[in-house]
Amino acid sequence: MHKPLRIAAVAAACAVAGAALYGAGAATAGQSTANSTHEPYNIGLLTKDIDTYYGTTQDSAGVYQASPDSPYAKDLARIDAAAKKQIDQAARAAKHHRAKPAVVFDIDDTLLLSLDYEKKNNYGYNSATWAAYVNRADRPAVFGSPELVRYAEKKGVEVFYNSGLSEAQRAAAVANLRKVGADVNLDADHMFLKDSANPPSYLSGCATPGAWTCTTVQYKSGTRKHIESLGYDIVADFGDQYSDLQGGYADKTYKLPNPTYYVS
Ligand SMILES: [Mg+2]
Repeated sequence: MHKPLRIAAVAAACAVAGAALYGAGAATAGQSTANSTHEPYNIGLLTKDIDTYYGTTQDSAGVYQASPDSPYAKDLARIDAAAKKQIDQAARAAKHHRAKPAVVFDIDDTLLLSLDYEKKNNYGYNSATWAAYVNRADRPAVFGSPELVRYAEKKGVEVFYNSGLSEAQRAAAVANLRKVGADVNLDADHMFLKDSANPPSYLSGCATPGAWTCTTVQYKSGTRKHIESLGYDIVADFGDQYSDLQGGYADKTYKLPNPTYYVS
């Protein structure tokens, strides 16, 4: 995740609400009724909805877990089923055309679920507590994601990772992915993390050593462009944020659900 750009769902909701309120007021001056202000969804109810969506329960260790029979899990299962069909097609087509198909996965909340952190931090963000949480390398899998990673590998579709986690978090990311069974291509040639101190030359349009100005979309799409420059055709790109998916260099994008924060 790009921490300075990461907006908690709560903060994002407030910002959008503020803009909507101002717009409504300007357009309907003199008609200030409750209806005209478009009162935003109540934040206390929203957090309850999020719990219902994940089927959140607290385990014996006090860790908040999503339920495998939750609406969240069902949404993921639908997405994964569609993705597996597409991987099958890409694998078949590759045999005929000698192509090098690839899939790209974001990590945070695409492969590793941060629900416990989000809930315990009121859907907010703090760089120190987030770093400590990531470094514990003990996040559970996003349901179905390790299976999807292994499915792609089994079909001969190359697996890459494209994450806003930093180079300093590489060892923890690798350990955590291995622990949840996403044990495919966890090497530096396949796992692209944010190296803001020494950015790769293919990001020179927005990043030079010590001067990183890439947006999430520039960083992630620039990384996909680089992967394709190596001869791969990215057939599918998986992410829980729209900024994981925009900017091209993927035949198809899969937006995984995440109502807990927004990364612009
Ligand atoms: Mg993510």
